[in-house]
Amino acid sequence: MMMKSVDIAIIGGGMVGLTLAAALAETELRVAVIEGTLPDETLNPLPDVRVSALSRASERILRRVGAWDGIISRRAAPYMAMKVWEQDSFANIGFKADDLGQPDLGHIVENRVIQLALLDRVTRQDNVELFAPDRCQSLAMGENEAWLTLESGQSLTAKLVVGADGANSWLRNKADIPLTWRDYGHSALVANIRCSEPHDGVARQIFTPEGPLAFLPLSEPDLCSIVWSLPPEKADRLVTMDEESFNKQLTVAFDNQLGLCRVEGDRAAFPLKMRYARDFAKNRIALVGDAAHTIHPLAGQGVNLGLLDAASLAEDLVSLWQQGKDIGLHENLRHYERWRKAEAAKMIAAMQGFRELFDGANPLKKLARGIGMVAADVLPGVKQQFMLRAWVLRVIYLTWQKCGKKQVL
Ligand SMILES: Cc1cc2nc3c(=O)[nH]c(=O)nc-3n(C[C@H](O)[C@H](O)[C@H](O)COP(=O)(O)OP(=O)(O)OC[C@H]3O[C@@H](n4cnc5c(N)ncnc54)[C@H](O)[C@@H]3O)c2cc1C
Repeated sequence: MMMKSVDIAIIGGGMVGLTLAAALAETELRVAVIEGTLPDETLNPLPDVRVSALSRASERILRRVGAWDGIISRRAAPYMAMKVWEQDSFANIGFKADDLGQPDLGHIVENRVIQLALLDRVTRQDNVELFAPDRCQSLAMGENEAWLTLESGQSLTAKLVVGADGANSWLRNKADIPLTWRDYGHSALVANIRCSEPHDGVARQIFTPEGPLAFLPLSEPDLCSIVWSLPPEKADRLVTMDEESFNKQLTVAFDNQLGLCRVEGDRAAFPLKMRYARDFAKNRIALVGDAAHTIHPLAGQGVNLGLLDAASLAEDLVSLWQQGKDIGLHENLRHYERWRKAEAAKMIAAMQGFRELFDGANPLKKLARGIGMVAADVLPGVKQQFMLRAWVLRVIYLTWQKCGKKQVL
């Protein structure tokens, strides 16, 4: 079979890999995307259980690459407000899009919808060739290019190979890039829940002693997608438990906030790990999205961080190309690497702070959390500044720190 030569081979045509390919439209760069599994194009009446809370920054990226209309025309639910509180406590905080002069705070979208809208876009690009369903078999490094063979027997050479192949990245392993990781000691249970009261477009999250439980509003006024972080054994029990008992436990855990809860369709649990690749770039290699980092979903930031990786890498690659520089040299990829490693590290640290802050029911710690949340709620300057950065929950953490974490504990 013929050897193909491209500038960039992107392994993984998920949300992040496809965003990178779409961001390289209108350039002369020749791009290959290798994706193992193509998504089914027909959406079910009941939304998929894997959804993402896309921030407004992510919306801007997806608009710029021409995928936003394809998302909205399929299915997406804007959320106008957010409410976070702690079980059995006065601690609570709220945000409204109106107060910030924004039309919404973001959108809840099925991952498959994002992937399908991006695929529409990428398959129309002359500079992109999609190899799917296909997977990489081997990788070899030459002086000026990398060599890839695919399971289909096709061979490729590329100046740069990008790993957008998710948390268990094949490329990261092949390239021997060490990984720092930590088990969060949680699994995330996801499901669609029909509530007896309307969600009113509000994203809600309760912190329970076992972990956070989020109810994300979907397009139907009484349907929410939940992300329930729990000790793994309990999550497994709840996934297999009969529906009636599950519904009861969920309604109680959620403080009855939307009345009675009823599960519809599948329940699934995903073990949660923090992962941070030591290198986001090497000679002829760059990592983006979950291949580079994974974080706890409690602030719903994983894919938002990944989309920013894709946009940042595209920006640097286009600039290198325009200057006639080699896009695969590590020294030319260092700017991307420093930039995105710093952003991922900040997010990982913030998630760790939250986990520690909301872990356990120590009454003093609980009091501090309450004061922190209420203070953040009534300080509009603080709240808005952080809201605009779409990093909502960090406010609670910082305010709590200001309230004298050291003295209280
Ligand atoms: C329960 C849960 C809830 C979450 N909620 C949110 C949220 O609300 N907001 C948010 O921002 N983030 C959220 N996240 C995180 C988010 O889902 C991930 O950050 C996101 O999916 C990462 O996208 P990606 O494209 O990097 O990787 P993936 O989505 O994993 O895509 C990788 C792609 O690569 C393909 N692939 C893998 N290996 C190969 C190979 N060897 N060859 C070819 N193709 C390959 C796969 O088929 C896949 O299509 C959540 C995560 C979990 C677990």
